[in-house]
Amino acid sequence: MAVAASHRGGLREDLTCAICCDLFREPVMLPCMHHFCKSCISRYWRGLQGAASCPHCRQEFSSKQFHTNYLVTAMVEKVRASCSDSYIRNIEKQLKESLENHLLKKEELFNIIHRDKQKMDTIKSVGAELQARVQGEFRALQQFLQEEEACVLEQMRWEQREVMDQLQCHLEASREAVKELEQNIRVLQQATEASENTALTELPQIRPCVQVCAAPELDMKAFSAKYTVPLQYITWRKMFKSLKPGPAPLTFDVDTAHPSLHISRDRTVAVESAGGLLPYKPGPQRFLQCVNVLAAEGFRSGRHYWEVGVGAKPKWDLGVASELVDRHARVKLSPESGYWTLRLRRGGEYSAGTQPWTRLPVGSAPQRVGVFLDCDERRVSFYDADSMSLLHCFADGPRGKVYPFFSPCIVDDSQRPQPMHILHHPGVSLVV
Ligand SMILES: [Zn+2]
Ligand SMILES: [Zn+2]
Repeated sequence: MAVAASHRGGLREDLTCAICCDLFREPVMLPCMHHFCKSCISRYWRGLQGAASCPHCRQEFSSKQFHTNYLVTAMVEKVRASCSDSYIRNIEKQLKESLENHLLKKEELFNIIHRDKQKMDTIKSVGAELQARVQGEFRALQQFLQEEEACVLEQMRWEQREVMDQLQCHLEASREAVKELEQNIRVLQQATEASENTALTELPQIRPCVQVCAAPELDMKAFSAKYTVPLQYITWRKMFKSLKPGPAPLTFDVDTAHPSLHISRDRTVAVESAGGLLPYKPGPQRFLQCVNVLAAEGFRSGRHYWEVGVGAKPKWDLGVASELVDRHARVKLSPESGYWTLRLRRGGEYSAGTQPWTRLPVGSAPQRVGVFLDCDERRVSFYDADSMSLLHCFADGPRGKVYPFFSPCIVDDSQRPQPMHILHHPGVSLVV
């Protein structure tokens, strides 16, 4: 800007008439190449006595003649325009706007930087918290394994020591018996030597022979068989029971089941009845409009996980339901109405149970669905239980008590009803 201004100042000086000391008006050039306003040089020459001359370099000319210089005229007009008030005001306005714009942009960038830093701080603190949590989970498993290992080794050492102690006793008794025998042998040998010289009248006194009991039985096969078992599997089975949360061995609550559902005797299988409604005991907890059923156990706090076998069923809903849901009303499943669910329709369309439904991109059809309920963090997550890949998570989960929820749905008459299973793992009773 400073360079431009000084440049403009120099130009203005060059385009200033030496007579009127203002910008040229109708500039004309004399033969000496100096410029003046046409009126200024005309007035100057009118006042002159004698030959015309240049007021600047004093060169004299034979006649009073000059040439109009259009280039200089155009330049003067430009400089004059650039010095006008409106032009300057416009420039000043543009300057001000540009400056304000820059200041705003700078402020915006500062805000972005601040937000980025805040996000970085957040991710750092959340990361540290998560790290501690992950470490805690693994530490619990490691501690379980260490305790199990110590327990098995202690048992093995105890058995080993027991046999060793018995053998040691037997060894010492045998040594003692050897000593007694050696003593008697010595007495007998002395008596034999003496009998060569003199006739013995009686046998020497010897101690009675010590009886050593039979050596303890050592069944090495039985001993090692105890410790050459599938130790990893046995330990894993025990560890499985200690998982927090491990798959909960839930059962269906038959008193909540819609009358068209048949519940197995062990209350782990639900399937729609082929013959319409089954006889039922009416009650406020029973679903009457939708083909639903709840688990017998509800949760208000803590973290819980369970798995549901859906096999190749083309249609189902499952998840959790608030204990407060109206069992006699026909409602659209959504968190607003007290249901946090995952649903399948037409054999391949998976959705989260929101209003409207949120379609989920699910690659391969899960045969088993894992439901993870974290009451304290109010989260409900669904997994493909075979790969444990996350299918959907409700981050704004339920408050208050909820029950595992299942809806085997009704399929049309052309299809065979397929059951929904609550899975108990690993195919054994998990009663600890
Ligand atoms: Zn002039
Ligand atoms: Zn001149």
